[in-house]
Amino acid sequence: MSPAPVIVVTGPSGAGKGTLIAELLRRLPQLEHSISATTRERRPGEQDGREYWFLTPEEFARRVRAGEFLEHVTYVSQRCYGTLRSELERIARGGRICVLELETEGALNIKRTVPGAVTIFISASVAELERRLKERATETHTEIGERLRLAHEQLEQAGEFDHVIVNDELEHAADELERVVRRELALAATIEP
Ligand code: ADP
Ligand code: 5GP
Repeated sequence: MSPAPVIVVTGPSGAGKGTLIAELLRRLPQLEHSISATTRERRPGEQDGREYWFLTPEEFARRVRAGEFLEHVTYVSQRCYGTLRSELERIARGGRICVLELETEGALNIKRTVPGAVTIFISASVAELERRLKERATETHTEIGERLRLAHEQLEQAGEFDHVIVNDELEHAADELERVVRRELALAATIEP
């Protein structure tokens, strides 16, 4: 059997990546979310080691130098985000399949460097992203503006990924994501290494 693929969920901020991944993990318990490292501040209710590993910029830079990241980027407001190799190893050791939630640059990096990675772009209109980010209210007005400006470029990259799912009606998008992932896992299981 070939090694299990890495599932990468990407798309602009506010598209619903986090919401859809949470539902996907409920439906497919063999999947596990890799916990990224970030230098952004913790939002209310977030816990270190659950949503992210929250690091100082110095600690993040030290880990970059030590080669601990599979990929890392600087996103809005000079915040760093990165996928720790140790997370992928931990999930593989547990016999589970890894799900990464990444912005588009990181997702394209993984597509180029990790054989068999499956990339899924979650899409929504800019007007809807704006409405959701304002309603979520986890960033400042300025940072929401930055995320929306970036969203225009990210939406143009949708065609570079293996699958595009429009998250308009949540239940419908969750069904579509489950279907795509089940099909990719079944396909990977039939391919000899
Ligand atoms: P992302 O992880 O892509 O930034 P989130 O999963 O945090 O996005 O979703 C952004 C906001 O939009 C959240 O408040 C979430 O509850 C809401 N949301 C997600 N999907 C939908 C949908 N299909 N319709 C309406 N609101 C949604
Ligand atoms: P947020 O600050 O809203 O949690 O995340 C901002 C963006 O960073 C989201 O698009 C999220 O998917 C992305 N992201 C989270 N972790 C990583 C990571 O490890 N690498 C990359 N490239 N992007 C990440």
